[in-house]
Amino acid sequence: LKYSEEIAKRKKLYNQIQEAKGNIRVFCRCRPLSKQEVSTGHNAVVDFDAAKDGEIGIMNGGATKKSFKFDRVYTPKDNQADVYADASPLVTSVLDGYNVCIFAYGQTGTGKTFTMEGTEQNRGVNYRTLEELFKIAEERNETYSYNLSVSVLEVYNEQIRDLLATSPSTKKYNSFLSLDNWLEVRQAAEGFHHVPGIVEAKVENIKEAWDVLQAGSNARSVGSNNVNEHSSRSHCMLCIMVRAKNLMDGVCTKSKLWLVDLAGSERLTKTDVQGERLKEAQNINRSLSALGDVISALATKNNHIPYRNSKLTHLLQDSLGGDSKALMFVQISPSENDLGETVSSLNFASRVRGVELGLAKKQV
Ligand code: ADP
Repeated sequence: LKYSEEIAKRKKLYNQIQEAKGNIRVFCRCRPLSKQEVSTGHNAVVDFDAAKDGEIGIMNGGATKKSFKFDRVYTPKDNQADVYADASPLVTSVLDGYNVCIFAYGQTGTGKTFTMEGTEQNRGVNYRTLEELFKIAEERNETYSYNLSVSVLEVYNEQIRDLLATSPSTKKYNSFLSLDNWLEVRQAAEGFHHVPGIVEAKVENIKEAWDVLQAGSNARSVGSNNVNEHSSRSHCMLCIMVRAKNLMDGVCTKSKLWLVDLAGSERLTKTDVQGERLKEAQNINRSLSALGDVISALATKNNHIPYRNSKLTHLLQDSLGGDSKALMFVQISPSENDLGETVSSLNFASRVRGVELGLAKKQV
C-alpha cells in the first residue's frame, strides 16, 4: 500500500514538475505602499486588474500604461503562504534529485528579504522550504532515506564569505562535514561546483536548520557599521544539499537547492560616484549583469555560458541551466517615486522569463 501511495504521489509531483519545466519561472511581487509613502502623498502606479492572468500594468505618467506578463503576479494583499504555495513544486522536486535555484531580485526596500526570510510571524520562502523538505522526507521514510545539510554564504564585493565558518556561535555544531565531503560530491557528480572548504551543517529537523540560518544571519552583521546597508549591497545565499537513497532500488541522488536574496538592483546615483560605495555598486552591477548574461546565453542556447564572470553566477552554475529549475521573484515597489527602478526591474525580469532550461534527471 505504501508503495502505491508513493507512486501516486510521485505521479502528481511529476505532473507539477512538467508544468514547471522548461524555463525560468518568474513571479512578480509588489509590496504595499509604506506608511511613509502614504503620509507623504505618493501615489501607487501599479495596476493589478489582470494580476490573475499574470499581468501587471505600470502607469507611466498620464494615460500611458506598460504591461508585463509573468508566471504569477502577487498583489500587496497576497500573503507568504500564497507565495510559497506556488514555489512548493520546485522545492519538492529537489527531493527527487533536481537542482533548483530560487532567487529574489529587485531594488532595495521592495521586499526581497521579506519574501525569502520573512519575519517570525510571517515566515518566508527559506523557512517554509526547509519545513516542507523535512515533512516530505518524513512522509517518504519507508521508501527513501534523506540527508539534508545547509551552507550560508555571502558575496560582497566579489568576495565569498562563509557565514557559518566565521560565526562564533556555529562552534556548537559539531556535525559539519569537511572539505573532503564537498570534493567527494564534486567528483561523484560531474558538474557539481562549490567553494573549497565551505562549511556544511548537517541538519535533522526544522529547529536545527533554523538555528543554523540564525547563526549565519548573525555572522552577516559582524564587522559592518550599518547592517541594513551592508545586506542591501551583498548577496545572501543559502545552499541546501540533499542526499537521497531510494530504499527500494538502492539508487542514490544528490541535489542542491539555492535560496538567494540578491543585492539591491538600483542603479548608481550621483551621490554614489566615489570611494567604497562606487566599488560596491560596480561589483553589484557586475554580478547582476553577469546573471542576466548567463540567462541570455541559456536562452539563445549559446555553447558558451559565461558562468565565470562573477562569483554569483559561478556559485549558481549547477542550478542555472542543464537539468535544473529556477524561479525568480522580481520584487517591486508600487510607488510613483520608484517608477524608473520598477520598470528597469520588470524589463530585466521579462528578459529572464524567455529562457528555456533542459530537463533531464541526473543520477549519481
Ligand atoms: P529588500 O530586502 O528588498 O531591501 P525588505 O524585505 O527589507 O526589502 O522590505 C522592505 C520593507 O517593506 C520591510 O519593512 C518589509 O517588512 C516591508 N514589506 C516588503 N514586502 C512586504 C509585503 N509583501 N507585505 C508587507 N510588508 C512588506
